[in-house]
Formats: sequence, structure tokens, C-alpha cells
Amino acid sequence: MTEDMIPVSPQNLMNFNCHYKNECFNDCCRDLNQALTPYDVLRLKNNLGMSSPDFLKTYTSLHYGPGSGLPVIEFKPNPATGYACPFVTADGCSVYEDRPGSCRMYPLARAIARSRQTGEITEYFALIEEPHCKGFGKKTGQTVKEWLKGQNVDKYNEENDKLMELISLKNQILPGKLEGVQSDMFYLGLYDLDEFLKQIVEKDLLSEFSLSKDLLARIKTDDEALLNLGIDWVKFKLFGIKMAYGE
Ligand code: SF4
Ligand code: SF4
Repeated sequence: MTEDMIPVSPQNLMNFNCHYKNECFNDCCRDLNQALTPYDVLRLKNNLGMSSPDFLKTYTSLHYGPGSGLPVIEFKPNPATGYACPFVTADGCSVYEDRPGSCRMYPLARAIARSRQTGEITEYFALIEEPHCKGFGKKTGQTVKEWLKGQNVDKYNEENDKLMELISLKNQILPGKLEGVQSDMFYLGLYDLDEFLKQIVEKDLLSEFSLSKDLLARIKTDDEALLNLGIDWVKFKLFGIKMAYGE
């Protein structure tokens, strides 16, 4: 943690209030350098009624971690707007119901540790006090736990922790830089879900999996089921880990 990060526990008082009357309103949605998770992309593209290839092409940029080869998806930088998020408006966030997990958490940071014995997750939180953010020092009486509940962030954390587990597996099993084709699988199975589905149907991409008819039907309408399948597909293809339906 950096010196601007103050460790807090869920029972601590938050003393923070983000409000449209704050002089900094929307400042945190500018000068962005924000990575998106697979679940962020899923929620945003569905909010906008776009396919994943269209969403990714229109709103995001892709690069690969220099040491890991993992795909990193960020909002497309636009110097003309001061690197503002494409969804910020004078009235605030235009995709508020489906805003990314990191937008929900801010100004909190969350880290997790997973027990190797039980798989149980322990969460750690810290407040990031940045000078531009004027929400600090306002007494709301809310604890960190209550504030988090108001952000509806649990579902995002649950889904994003699956990505963290996958990255941890990659670091254990394939340390170093992924090959191009391996990086492409990560991108396809996790971020480009509509293209992934297309290839399942047209190219029999999951020929090693014995998918039930029910699951095959479900992934055509249920993006969360499709993302979970994408994660399992990457685990199988890159790490050789068989899931219940992988033969
Ligand atoms: S998605 Fe919404 S909350 Fe997040 S940076 Fe963009 S405008 Fe701000
Ligand atoms: S800078 Fe802080 S207080 Fe201001 S709008 Fe963003 S989160 Fe809210």
C-alpha cells in the first residue's frame, strides 16, 4: 500500500460523502487509467445493448502485460476530453447501474488473500485519500461495511475474484509471459464473450467438453453462465484443469 492509503476495517466509520454538490463532482471520472474486468465488460456492453466485439472496439484499448502476456482492457484514452471516461456526463455517470467495480469501490481499495487449505477469502480494505477528492471528512455515520452495501459491489467482487484466482493459477502454473495464442484465449474466453459463443457454435470450440443441452441453450442467453464457461475453458486449455463437464 502507498502512503496515501489508510487501512480500514469494515467496522470503521467511513466519514466520506460523494455528492453532486461537491466541487470535485465528476473529477474522478477524468484523467483515467482504468482497467476493466471481464465482468465489467459484460455489464457495460449489456447496458449499452452492444455486442462484445463492438463494445471492445468502440470503447476500449487492449495491451498485454509486458511480463505476464495477460490482456489488459482499459477505456480508450481520449486526450481531447482530458482522458475522461466515455460515459461521464454533466449529470454524472450515464451507465451508473452497470458502472465498473472499481468505480463502485472508489475511494476504497480492496485486496484479498485466499486460504490454500480451504479456499476461504479474507478481504482487506484501505482508503485512498487523493487531493482532488473532496468527499473526505464528511460525517455520515456510515461504516465501511454499510457504505459498501450501498454501492452494490458484492456481485462485482464475487465475479472479479474468479479472475484473481485465474491469474493466481497462471502465476503458479505458467510463470512468465504467455505465448500469443495463450493470450488470445484469455481475451476470447473472458472479454470477447459474443465472439466466444459464436466460435462455440460455428467452430465446435468446446469439443473436449461434454456440455449438456441445457447448458448449451443457457449460454446463448445468459452471459454470466457464458463467462463462467469461458473461465473454465481457459483453465482447461492453458492449465489442464478439468472441470465437471471437461473430459
Ligand atoms: S463508468 Fe461511470 S463512474 Fe465509472 S469512470 Fe465512467 S462515468 Fe465515472
Ligand atoms: S472526486 Fe470524490 S467526492 Fe468528488 S465526485 Fe469523485 S468520488 Fe465523489
